[in-house]
Amino acid sequence: FMKESKCFLNVILDELHSQFTRDNSSYDGIEFIVNKTLSNEETLVLTEERKLRQILSNLLNNAFKFTSAGSIEYGYHLIENNFLEFYVKDTGIGIPKEKQEIIFERFRQVEETFSRKYGGTGLGLAISKGFVELMGGQIRMETAEDNGTTFYFTIPYKPVGTSVATVKKTKKKGYKWDDKLIL
Ligand code: ATP
Ligand code: MG
Repeated sequence: FMKESKCFLNVILDELHSQFTRDNSSYDGIEFIVNKTLSNEETLVLTEERKLRQILSNLLNNAFKFTSAGSIEYGYHLIENNFLEFYVKDTGIGIPKEKQEIIFERFRQVEETFSRKYGGTGLGLAISKGFVELMGGQIRMETAEDNGTTFYFTIPYKPVGTSVATVKKTKKKGYKWDDKLIL
C-alpha cells in the first residue's frame, strides 16, 4: 500500500547532499554536485518519501563506492507526461556489458569471486528497482567500462504547491524508454 505524504524534493536532495558529504569526507577530491532544476515551491510534492530517499541513497552509495576520482552528480528534471526523472551520475569504474543485465537482481554483483574488493551484499539495486516500480516509474542505466555510470529513474510528478511546473510536449524525439532500457 502507498504511504504518500507531502514533502519538498529539494529539501530531500539537500539533506542527502549534507549526509553524503559528511559520510564520505575521505573522498577528498571528488566533486559532489546536486542539481535541482525546479523552484522549492514546485518541489512540494506528494510522494513516498522514505522509498525515494532509500533509492537515492542506494544509488549514491554505489556512486561513492565505485568512484575514486572525478565527480558524482545527482538531480532531477521534469520530463514529459508529468514524470520526474532523477539521475545519479559518476565517473567511476563503470559496468562491463556482460554484467549490465544481472546487477538489478538480488545478490548479484560484477565481482562474484571470494576475494572481492568492494563490500556489499548486492541488494541495493534490487531494492531500488522494486521501489521505483512500486512508485510507478522505471529505472535504467547508461554505463561504459572505465567510463562512469549514470542511473536514471522516473516517478510521477504530483505537485501540491501553488506554482506548478509543466513540461511542454516537444516534437523533439519524444521520450522513449525502450530505446535506452538495458535489460
Ligand atoms: P549493497 O548495495 O547491498 O550494499 P552492492 O552495492 O554490491 O551491495 P547493488 O547496489 O545492488 O549491490 O549493486 C550491484 C552491483 O552493481 C555492485 O556490486 C557493482 O558490481 C555494480 N554497480 C552498482 N552501481 C555501480 C556503479 N555506480 N558503478 C559501478 N558498478 C556499480
Ligand atoms: Mg549498493
